Amino acid sequence: MAFEGLSERLQSALAKLKGRGKVSEADVKSAMREVRLALLEADVNFKVVKNFVSRVSERAVGQEVLQSLTPGQQVIKVVNEELTKLMGGEQSRLQLNSKPAVILMVGLQGAGKTTTAGKLAHHLRKQHNKRPLLVAGDIYRPAAIRQLEVLGKQVDLPVFSLGDKESPVKIAEKGLAHAKENQHDVVIVDTAGRLHIDETMMDELRGIKEKVQPDEILLVVDAMTGQDAVNVAESFNREMDLTGVVLTKLDGDTRGGAALSVKAVTDCPVKFAGMGEKVDALEPFHPERMASRILG
Ligand code: GDP
Repeated sequence: MAFEGLSERLQSALAKLKGRGKVSEADVKSAMREVRLALLEADVNFKVVKNFVSRVSERAVGQEVLQSLTPGQQVIKVVNEELTKLMGGEQSRLQLNSKPAVILMVGLQGAGKTTTAGKLAHHLRKQHNKRPLLVAGDIYRPAAIRQLEVLGKQVDLPVFSLGDKESPVKIAEKGLAHAKENQHDVVIVDTAGRLHIDETMMDELRGIKEKVQPDEILLVVDAMTGQDAVNVAESFNREMDLTGVVLTKLDGDTRGGAALSVKAVTDCPVKFAGMGEKVDALEPFHPERMASRILG
């Protein structure tokens, strides 16, 4: 289960305050020390932790909290609200304005990009009545095109592919034209990932971006990789101006570092969470629900 360790530690840090009729500033301080350690251990970015703890402390030692009838509960409420804010506050939805709207999927190899492209197409059709076209633009990983075609079959949606001989920019451009001719309202372009960020990959992605003018550029990152995922998001955001992040593998036992840091570090909202390998295992990311889940 994701966040299990973090959840347990935060709950135990705050449990000491919970039923108390009186809470002192020292009690809050001591709880916050534990909260700080719990977050650091969950691999949350240290600057994020520092700011978070100081915001919570400032609010928690205020009159209206400590003088209230249920001070312990109020402190927990503050932690919940600040966790929610940390993850972006309101749910951040896709902005699909063009006709057809274009979603560019980017990310490193193995993050779950191709799988997420299929899941997202499925989600948009099921939940939003869209007619998505999947475009197979990852021509370097030998199995990626085939993988997308298999996914397309599974979710009963068409996949546009030109094999691996055309350039990804051409494929994206022709895919978009094909979508227009065939009345698709969303085009989801899968792109090539590499093991590491490099200039060739970014050049190619910029080329595609220029040609198809995406409504959304979604970075797919593996939540299991913690701070690495956040660093990857920072680099991609600098180069590509991301509109959102998809955190995959939140069904695994990820510690929480990526989910809690990525918005604060990059200012880029998490829009979806991958919760498994199946095509329906994609969920819109709800900061508030996530915070409540963590605090139990
Ligand atoms: P790509 O190289 O980024 O296109 O990655 P793939 O889409 O091929 O995914 C890599 C592996 O991660 C595959 O085995 C996927 O089934 C798996 N995967 C993707 N998303 C999730 C997820 O949310 N949860 C789990 N458990 N596995 C996932």
